Amino acid sequence: MNNLVSKSGTFICSTAVALAMAGAVHSHDGPSEALGKVHENIVIRGAKVFDGCTPELEAADVLISGNLITQIEPNLDAPADALVIEADGQVLMPGLIDAHWHGVIATATVARLMGSGEGYWNLIAAKAQRDVLYRGFTTIRDAGGPMFDIARATDEGLIVGPRVYPSGPQLTQTSGHGDFRSTNDVPAEHGHLHPFERAGMFYVADGVPEVLKRAREVLMGGATQVKVHGGGGVTSAYDPIHTVQYTLEEIRAAVTVAEGWGTYVLTHTISDESVNHAMDAGVKSIEHGHLVTRETLQRMADEDVWLSIQPFLDDEDAPTLPSADSRAKYARVTEGTDFVYPTAKELGVKIAFGTDALFDENLAARQGAQLVKLKKWFTPFEALKMATCDNAELLKMSGELNPYQEGALGVVEVGAYADLILVDGNPLENLDLVGDPAENFDLIMKDGVIYKLSLD
Ligand SMILES: [Zn+2]
Repeated sequence: MNNLVSKSGTFICSTAVALAMAGAVHSHDGPSEALGKVHENIVIRGAKVFDGCTPELEAADVLISGNLITQIEPNLDAPADALVIEADGQVLMPGLIDAHWHGVIATATVARLMGSGEGYWNLIAAKAQRDVLYRGFTTIRDAGGPMFDIARATDEGLIVGPRVYPSGPQLTQTSGHGDFRSTNDVPAEHGHLHPFERAGMFYVADGVPEVLKRAREVLMGGATQVKVHGGGGVTSAYDPIHTVQYTLEEIRAAVTVAEGWGTYVLTHTISDESVNHAMDAGVKSIEHGHLVTRETLQRMADEDVWLSIQPFLDDEDAPTLPSADSRAKYARVTEGTDFVYPTAKELGVKIAFGTDALFDENLAARQGAQLVKLKKWFTPFEALKMATCDNAELLKMSGELNPYQEGALGVVEVGAYADLILVDGNPLENLDLVGDPAENFDLIMKDGVIYKLSLD
């Protein structure tokens, strides 16, 4: 007889009991937040399955063995030892992917980061990791910051969180968007490193030889892709939005190093000129791009370059910014959002979904709500596909550096990683459901491990 977890069936289980029954421990060594014995087989019975890539829901049972999905079919025979979860027609979908996240700096204010060391940063990041997972995001591409140890600790089960594709220290030119130093730190003595550089938050690299060296160091640390700041940004103090950062040769140097490792460069680039400049240098993932023209979007479609943009709007989620200058920059960026999304969609640009919360716990908590905002320009299916199936395609550009090669991500299919969400309702009809994961996600599973199960 199987263990049964059901809304209305034989057993009515509280979350705690269900988790104990599930024995949902991490399959790797190390402690896990979800306590109990390993449950090798789990069957999710009677779900409507959204596979991440196609709009039709399929009524099926799903067998999870270990950390992978091994069978999807109606009325499948559950192994005798399986935990059976009665889904009662709820929608089962892939765990969400955030293509532009910063695990260390999403939630902590700059003042808090400035006044603490790496040990404290890691605790902040560990808390952020846990919160991300409980919002249903089972994978993040970290777009810069000291995340190598956090990624490792997560994979080892030391902490709870999503899978991480870390970029590590962000390469910035002097005075670039990633240069956190103050004017009192310059002129910089050659060889002198800022504490944030030593901690791996960013590397200031000027000139081709330095870019080559730092890009190699970033890959040595475990980056799955290389982050370069290629243009002006909102939160930084010394670089107006219109600025084009790095020479063509410098960005090309980073691209050459990345390509030697079989991976790619992503660039922080907002203005039209900086985006074209980055593409000229061979960049394959444009982060932001809120101020690009139709012609540039056409070029991106033609050259198969990803647009990793965020739904920045002048709304309730507009960030609290440190200066009038930053606020003016943000206003300018948001004006582009409403043009770029629909135009990119029309032209067939590959669009990734990301949130890029910075320095603000409340904003970071709105991760799922950011996805809901896409309904202004996309159907719920298009938005959900972007945050699952499409984002997983983007992650594949890391090639052999992809840390998760055992199964597919962002899809519900046989052989894929068991990264799953059970939604109480149909998000393909009501995208708002993903904006309130605490209320609407009844099951959150990553790597075959149940982190949340509440069917009541
Ligand atoms: Zn960012």
